Amino acid sequence: MIISVVSGKGGAGKTTLAASIAQVFAAEFYDLDVDAPNAEYFLKPDFSSKIPVTQPVPIFSEELCDGCGICTKECRFHALYRIMKTVYLSEPLCHGCGLCKMVCPQQAISYQDSLVGDVRSGYSQRTKNMVHVGDLIIGSTRGTYLISEMVKKIDRDKLSVIDGPPGNSCAAVAAIKPADLIILVVEPTPFGFHDMQQTEQIVQQMGKNYLIIANKAMSDASVEEYFKNKPKKAALTIPLDDRYHEANLKGEILSQQFSEIYRGLQQIISPELTRP
Ligand code: SF4
Ligand code: SF4
Repeated sequence: MIISVVSGKGGAGKTTLAASIAQVFAAEFYDLDVDAPNAEYFLKPDFSSKIPVTQPVPIFSEELCDGCGICTKECRFHALYRIMKTVYLSEPLCHGCGLCKMVCPQQAISYQDSLVGDVRSGYSQRTKNMVHVGDLIIGSTRGTYLISEMVKKIDRDKLSVIDGPPGNSCAAVAAIKPADLIILVVEPTPFGFHDMQQTEQIVQQMGKNYLIIANKAMSDASVEEYFKNKPKKAALTIPLDDRYHEANLKGEILSQQFSEIYRGLQQIISPELTRP
């Protein structure tokens, strides 16, 4: 089973809660926030391997290419451009989709592997399980590819927690796609609710089962007011509390330090794990 923890807005506490969920259920952890992975700050894994992830990118035969420009027009990601009769690749933009090779009338395109990032793995004494961290090459736009490659390695027979990218990008969708349960973390502010709604729509359109956690709530009343007319309420509300903030700054896992967080997560997620 895969639990993906996502949030429409950065800074909502997604990673903090993903680490806590992994600790409560001793789950394998996948940090798929590949642009800025930081769950290791809480999980403190003992990294033992680092595996490169590559993606095929096109190369062009000078002999065969006649500079027709069809590939540059067809590429959906604007990764190809032509100067005079020569085609060039802007590699960070290439998604390795293979379309350019398909449309080339001269069969002038072949592929070679290009490094997208690395996956570091190691055991965490804190969660009693493995942690895998995706590190995207700085400046690359190929986070979705790296995430998809990491997702392929997840053993669905085990319980795994994904810390997804914030926002509603393709990369976030790639982290939502494999999940059996989504934990949608919202910071109860106007911005937080606005961005959460967009993520919630994506989750609903993908037909995913999900729970909402309102994190850093100024008051229960403000959360209740927002969800008053909504069909889906927050399953758990975590207050804005200086003790949690200080524990965060020290790199502590909240569920390990605060029994109310441990119990709250256990109560809302346990029934979902046994759902047929
Ligand atoms: S593989 Fe796809 S994304 Fe990359 S250059 Fe070709 S058409 Fe564009
Ligand atoms: S489609 Fe093929 S022949 Fe035309 S510019 Fe691209 S690589 Fe060259």
